[in-house]
Amino acid sequence: MNIFVCISHVPDTTTKIIIGQDGKSIDRTEVTYILNPYDEFAIEAGLQWKESKGGEVTAVCVGSPEVKETIRKAFAMGVDKGIHIVTDSPFDSYGTARALADTLRERRPDVVFCGRQSIDYDGWQVPGMLAELLGMPAVTVVSSLELREDGTFTAERDIEGGKETIVSRLPALISAQKGLNNPRYPKLQGIMAAKKKPIEDVPAVQTPPRVRVLEMFKPPLKSGGRIVGEGAGAVPELVRLLHEEAKVI
Ligand SMILES: Cc1cc2nc3c(=O)[nH]c(=O)nc-3n(C[C@H](O)[C@H](O)[C@H](O)COP(=O)(O)OP(=O)(O)OC[C@H]3O[C@@H](n4cnc5c(N)ncnc54)[C@H](O)[C@@H]3O)c2cc1C
Repeated sequence: MNIFVCISHVPDTTTKIIIGQDGKSIDRTEVTYILNPYDEFAIEAGLQWKESKGGEVTAVCVGSPEVKETIRKAFAMGVDKGIHIVTDSPFDSYGTARALADTLRERRPDVVFCGRQSIDYDGWQVPGMLAELLGMPAVTVVSSLELREDGTFTAERDIEGGKETIVSRLPALISAQKGLNNPRYPKLQGIMAAKKKPIEDVPAVQTPPRVRVLEMFKPPLKSGGRIVGEGAGAVPELVRLLHEEAKVI
C-alpha cells in the first residue's frame, strides 16, 4: 500500500506563547516544537496498515526547514520516508492543503492519514480541503477503523453524544481522533535509523492566502480570588455574590 501521513510541526503545549511584535503572529524564538499529538494516531494507523497489508509509509510536512526534526520523529516511530514541502512564508489552511495536494496527487496514494486537528491554529480544515483537492472521500475524526481485502473500510466517527459508522472505499483520506490506537513509543533502534532515512525536499508553490490574521491577543489575566468567609456561615454570602455580582446562578 502507498500510505501517506500528513504531519504538522506545532508548539509544545507546555510552551509559554508570546505574541510577536506585529501583533499578528507568534514569537517563535523560545518555542519548543513537537509532532502534533493527533498526527501520532495517524502515523500509528499508517504503520499498522503497512504491517498487515505491506507497502510503505511516507510522512509529509509543509513548513520551514525546522520541520525536518518533526519528520525525523515520525521516522523514529517507523515511518519509511519523508517529504518536506519547503516554504518560509506560512500558509493558511487552504494553502497548506494545496501544497499537500500538489505533491501527493502524482504519487497516487492509496490512503492519506491526517490528524483530526493541528493543535496550533486549530483549524480542522486541512483534511477536508485536501481530500476534495485530491478527489477522494474524506472520513474525519475516526476513532475505530477496519480495512477489508476488497479495499473497502469501516470507520467509526465520534459525533456529539455518540458514534457514527461509515463505510467507504480506498483511495481515501482518513483523519485520526484520539483513541483510534495507542501510538508506539520510538525504540532506540528506530531513533538511530531515523537519522539515515531519506527526506525529499519539494518546493511549495505559493498560494495567495484566502484568510488574513488581523490581530492576535491573549485573554485578560484572571483577577485574584476573594475569600468571603469560612465554613457553612459563608455560604449565603457566596450565593449572593455568585447571583448578584458574577451572575452565574
Ligand atoms: C491565517 C493564518 C496564518 C498563519 N500564520 C502562521 C505563521 O505565521 N507561522 C506558522 O508557522 N504557521 C502559521 N499558520 C499555520 C499553518 O500554516 C498551519 O499549518 C495551517 O494553517 C494548517 O493549520 P490548520 O489549523 O488549518 O490545520 P488542521 O486542519 O487543524 O490540521 C489537521 C491535520 O492536517 C494536517 N496538517 C496541518 N498542517 C499541516 C502541515 N503544515 N503540513 C502537513 N500536514 C498538515 C495534519 O495531519 C493535521 O493533524 C497560519 C495559519 C493561518 C490560518
